Amino acid sequence: MPGFRGGRLHQIDVSGTAGRLSLDMDERIRRRRDMMRLMPELPEVEAVRRRLEPAMRGARITRVLLRRKGLRRPFPRAFASRLEGRRIRSVDRRGKYLLIALDSGDTLLMHLGMSGSFRIGRGATRRKSAAAGTRTRHDHVVFTLSNGVVLTFNDPRRFGVMDVLGDGPLASHGVFAAMGPEPLEPSFGGAALARALAGKRVALKVALLDQRIVAGLGNIYASEALHRAGLSPLRRSSTLATTAGRPAPGGVRLAVAIKAVLREAIARKEHPGRAGRFRVYDREGEPCRTPGCRGTVRRISQAGRSTFYCPACQR
Ligand SMILES: [Zn+2]
Repeated sequence: MPGFRGGRLHQIDVSGTAGRLSLDMDERIRRRRDMMRLMPELPEVEAVRRRLEPAMRGARITRVLLRRKGLRRPFPRAFASRLEGRRIRSVDRRGKYLLIALDSGDTLLMHLGMSGSFRIGRGATRRKSAAAGTRTRHDHVVFTLSNGVVLTFNDPRRFGVMDVLGDGPLASHGVFAAMGPEPLEPSFGGAALARALAGKRVALKVALLDQRIVAGLGNIYASEALHRAGLSPLRRSSTLATTAGRPAPGGVRLAVAIKAVLREAIARKEHPGRAGRFRVYDREGEPCRTPGCRGTVRRISQAGRSTFYCPACQR
């Protein structure tokens, strides 16, 4: 058994042909825990939006099939009937949420949770093969559209969310009322970031995960942006703003870095052939990729989540 080394049950060799890591049990458990928390972040959700938009926009929802009572929480009352017969005006994103605007004024809100994904098919569902049966076991919601598209939401862990928001400005709805700026909007920059971080004592990495500070960032891209900006994840958030709440130099740098890592990640999702690699995320013990830096990537825990950074060039 490849996991056994010299009788030490705690060593497991995870090297395939290319890997050379040897992880002990604690590390393995920690990694698994982190993997399970690997929620889709802005780039993943944006990639889904770009795939859904051409399939959905302009079509009418003819049928909504709910295979269970809910996902993370129950579907709202009259969920299907508020959607059926309605035309889809637009397919947007806010933070990590997908927003499907309907001609009734309602908005279908969807969140991928940890494991949610969409399949875009056409025409009636095929007869089930054994393999398809396993795959479709977690197909919880099926939307049939007037253009022949069948959109299936699959979510093995069922942490996804689907809801219908009534008419009225988005900002008046629960989660969106407190949500921070969209980092890819032109209006987002050092000034907006400084305003959000001014006076905050919390560590910078922890602040970046807070959706009220910036929308859409999660564990991966927060670490990546900090590395790109050369800022320590442990730094106190308020140091990126002057006492007057204007951006300190690091604040401008970080806003630029956030935009850059998100844009590059979206591009990678759209052209997976050019698989890029993370600068620090999941690279503990490996050499830093900052040109001229001889540091080694470290992993620490902040607010229960892994942070990866280079202590040599991130200050
Ligand atoms: Zn470095």
